[in-house]
Amino acid sequence: MEGLIERAARDLIASKHAIALTGAGISTESGIPDFRGPQGIWTTNKEAEAKAYERYELFLRDPKSYWQEMLGEKGTHGAFYIQVRKVEPNPGHYALAELERLGIVKCVITQNIDGLHRKAGSKSVIEYHGSVHKLRCPSCGSRRGLEEVSLESLPPYCECGGVMKYDVVHFKEPIPLDVMNEAEKEALECDLMLVCGTSAVVYPFASLPRAAKLGRKTSGAIIEINAEPTPLTREGISDYLIQGKTGEVLPQLAEAVRKWKLNRD
Ligand SMILES: [Zn+2]
Repeated sequence: MEGLIERAARDLIASKHAIALTGAGISTESGIPDFRGPQGIWTTNKEAEAKAYERYELFLRDPKSYWQEMLGEKGTHGAFYIQVRKVEPNPGHYALAELERLGIVKCVITQNIDGLHRKAGSKSVIEYHGSVHKLRCPSCGSRRGLEEVSLESLPPYCECGGVMKYDVVHFKEPIPLDVMNEAEKEALECDLMLVCGTSAVVYPFASLPRAAKLGRKTSGAIIEINAEPTPLTREGISDYLIQGKTGEVLPQLAEAVRKWKLNRD
């Protein structure tokens, strides 16, 4: 374990454009419930799962009902978003923010909708599946903070006249083009990728480590930090796996990089 962290620190220091991908694993350590685990929200509530699959369609068909549901006036989903907005970052989030401050990590691309990377201080964050802190207009693509928009009369409208939804990307909803393009550009440009708390099996997000593997111009590594081996490990997409909790491994990694920088300066 110790050896791999030192190796990863050395690889990070040698990199010119390191980025991090993060998934549910880093959020569950902050107490956010997962969806498909043994006690997951959908494992234990099939009706909620069925509703989640219909949510985007509901927005398109009847945005007022969509908003009533999302705000908890109908159903329970609103309560989940309210709960998520209260959660605090954990040492894994802070370590990635520290690696950005040290000039090592250039960008975090996350599948998580909780906004915890920004809360922890990361500045360059691509929220691939959107955020519970924002609204988005699918017509023009603009986003607004939740606190900037009045939800007294539903549905809320964008300045362009389009109807706004949560920024969160629902099932069957396309990933917003700006986010998809930025993420792909980062994946092709990076010379090192940290894959943290995700098995990267949900497409199109799952294409990012694969694009990095094929597109990279240098010998930089794809490093996994996951509790268990994943398809990325088995398919040889990642160069090595540091097996453990992101909340424990990432702080050790950030510390190793920080020490090296101190010695150098
Ligand atoms: Zn608009």
